[in-house]
Amino acid sequence: MQRPAIIHKTAADLAVPPNLADYAATCAGFSWDAARAELAGLPGGGLNIAHEAVERHAHGPLRERIAFRFLGENSLRDVGYGELSRLTSRFANVLRTLGVRRGERVFVLTGRIPELYIAVLGGLKAGCVVSPLFSAFGPEPIATRIGIGEGAVLVTTDLLYERKVAKLRDRLPSLRHVLLVGEEDGATAIPATQDLAMLMAQAADTFETVATRPEDLALLHFTSGTTGTPKGAMHVHGAVLTHWATGRYALDLHDGDIFWCTADPGWVTGTSYGIVAPLLHGVSSIVDVADFDAERWYRILQEQRVSVWYTAPTAIRMLMKAGPELARGFSFPRLRFVASVGEPLNPEAVWWGRDVLGKPIHDNWWQTETGGIMIANLPALDIKPGSMGKPLPGVEAAIVRPREGGGVEFVDAPDEEGELALKRGWPSMLRGYLNNEERYRKCFAGDWYLTGDLARRDADGYYWFVGRSDDVIKSAGHLIGPFEVESALMEHPAVAEAGVIGKPDDMVGEVVKAFVSLKQGFEPSEALRKELLGHARKKLGAAVAPKEIDFLPVLPRTRSGKIMRRLLKARELGLPEGDTSTLEAGA
Ligand code: AMP
Repeated sequence: MQRPAIIHKTAADLAVPPNLADYAATCAGFSWDAARAELAGLPGGGLNIAHEAVERHAHGPLRERIAFRFLGENSLRDVGYGELSRLTSRFANVLRTLGVRRGERVFVLTGRIPELYIAVLGGLKAGCVVSPLFSAFGPEPIATRIGIGEGAVLVTTDLLYERKVAKLRDRLPSLRHVLLVGEEDGATAIPATQDLAMLMAQAADTFETVATRPEDLALLHFTSGTTGTPKGAMHVHGAVLTHWATGRYALDLHDGDIFWCTADPGWVTGTSYGIVAPLLHGVSSIVDVADFDAERWYRILQEQRVSVWYTAPTAIRMLMKAGPELARGFSFPRLRFVASVGEPLNPEAVWWGRDVLGKPIHDNWWQTETGGIMIANLPALDIKPGSMGKPLPGVEAAIVRPREGGGVEFVDAPDEEGELALKRGWPSMLRGYLNNEERYRKCFAGDWYLTGDLARRDADGYYWFVGRSDDVIKSAGHLIGPFEVESALMEHPAVAEAGVIGKPDDMVGEVVKAFVSLKQGFEPSEALRKELLGHARKKLGAAVAPKEIDFLPVLPRTRSGKIMRRLLKARELGLPEGDTSTLEAGA
């Protein structure tokens, strides 16, 4: 069926007036200083994310309101704002008792259990820098990130520790304390670890939030580039202004909302919007420990009376695949606003939302480095399905192209492709990549931050995603660096060289595909392919490991020795090979 190019908002869509009713007027009148005045702050100009998210509400009228409802496989636990304050204070006191100092790094590696949320917010209260890691990572990505981040503390579970960390612990000299959540039966007796529940029980439940400065580091989120090790994007407490403004305008959070962000805090969305933004607005969040399951998700939306839902294109496509029959068994009268992020959202998915959920899906765009939503389909604006929407108030976006001789030029003509850039100065902009000044500097052309994404802007000011300007892979919404995968494959004794690409996939966007050439003495075989897949999965974890491996006699390289992933991809997809003038002879 041919669908219209625009979904016009109706009076019914706007029955609950959006926080941002007039886009032009709100943008014109917006200032980050005014946003700051909406927050409490701390004496002497201090600002702390945990204070704004938890403490500000915990001693007032919202004290008894549910902050998080944790849905276990077969259980439910509510944690109110008052209780969240006490629990996070206990955790902050645990850190203090252990001698963990302000500015030290606390890593968290668990599923979406209460301890994760308590450790993140308690760590911030204590003035530490917090880094949540995705629990589906394998041992290699975990050790690399804790190593780069010089983690002093790791909060994890007994099972994850034994499976993923214990063997690599001697690679992590900075790690002084490992605090374990007993997944099975409470207290644990694993050497060189401590039982978190016991420490929490002994700690006091009041704590004076450390008066961090707006420019003090708060969060470390790892992201992947095309080459080299993962980059630790550094975010400051001042980022809370973006979390607040985007929670208000892009997610349209209202008093009394029930909000469900399906992202895992191991990725930036799950922290900025799965933890911080909803708390800032004093709403109640649903957290589901379980993995995706279409029926379960429909049931949660219905039974938990979710009013604002923030999810991802892959999940929406999986719901679409599960078929309309299943959806028809549920109804969502409470649902007011649905948004998604992380990868391109197909126009059909936007319409599917309208047909099945009763609400179109509002795509929005941002990345680890931006710390919060930058471009969005806003509730009051008509949707052009396939577009990412318009820049948020306080965010200036542009399409640029490199200028010969350095710098960039602006592409002002509508519908012309270029790199998406953002004017420096929004509060949640990364302040650097940890220990990697050079890579950080390369992200900027003067006052403009270069996103690495190609996009265009139409005559109405809507932005359209075109693609990445580099080789990073987006699989199920997760950014994967080909280099990390290649390195793990190269550790196998049979592998001489490896090149990794993202192969387009209807469901998850891209799947990770590897090409390897073998060392002398090894022959391609089905058994070896399986062994390599298993090897990579064991090292990298299911979220990062390749799903397909092909053998090649040699990999195409440039004369300077770099594997030409672009060419591997073109050959895989039967596309023109483009400029191969730098290709090494014989490849
Ligand atoms: P990450 O840093 O892992 O959050 O990944 C950020 C990248 O995901 C962006 O640079 C884009 O390439 C991609 N991305 C995020 N949101 C969208 C979107 N709405 N449409 C297309 N790509 C997106």
